[in-house]
Amino acid sequence: MAERKRLVAGNWKMNGLRADALALARNVVARARQPHRCELLVCPPATLLAVVGEALAGSDVALGGQDCHAEPKGAFTGCISAEMLKDAGCSHAIVGHSERRHTCGETDADVRAKTLAGWRAGLIAIVCVGEIRAEREGGRAMSVVEAQIAGSLPDGATSQNLIVAYEPVWAIGTGLTPTMADIAEMHAAIRARVPLDARILYGGSVNPKNAGEILALEDVDGALVGGASLKADDFWAIAQACE
Ligand code: PEP
Repeated sequence: MAERKRLVAGNWKMNGLRADALALARNVVARARQPHRCELLVCPPATLLAVVGEALAGSDVALGGQDCHAEPKGAFTGCISAEMLKDAGCSHAIVGHSERRHTCGETDADVRAKTLAGWRAGLIAIVCVGEIRAEREGGRAMSVVEAQIAGSLPDGATSQNLIVAYEPVWAIGTGLTPTMADIAEMHAAIRARVPLDARILYGGSVNPKNAGEILALEDVDGALVGGASLKADDFWAIAQACE
């Protein structure tokens, strides 16, 4: 079996103006000059893709978008296509993040269409799945995630075009995390439903303190990091936990 190289991806969400984004990106690039065994990716807001992309040039830190529209172009005010992300220098696009599923009402079918759009543009889709708290407490976490996987992943997924991020909604931005046993169980279940060697990231309140334990789990191939990715020190500490 091919080695699954770990990926630590930063989702900056709706944070950053040009000056602080540039400083953060330069800081990440400076740290990434040191030896590291994981891939690094930052996903800034669309307004910052150009400035961050310039800061990342010549480094091995990749650039990603936080979402894309399913259509390549057209009358979709405020939206950004996968082709536009590619044109801006992105290699990856996050799709199906819980903040889009739950605040924008995106369905599995929408996520599937966006995944296909990402592939059409030559992007690697990072497809997010995860249960809400009531589903976890009601013992339905596994069936919810299995249904999201079935509904969100199109045919044609490979380890080259797909990364799955398991992000329990109740763990995002809350400081809460599932038990290691729960993460391991969910990642193993996802592993059985995705192409061999596709990477599965964990996301939800990953920080420098808990990253080592989470990233040591067998089926955890990296982390999707929100809040902690806004501090270069913390993002780098999480990357180092991959060692
Ligand atoms: C996220 O939004 O993908 C995320 C994991 O956020 P946080 O790390 O802040 O919980």
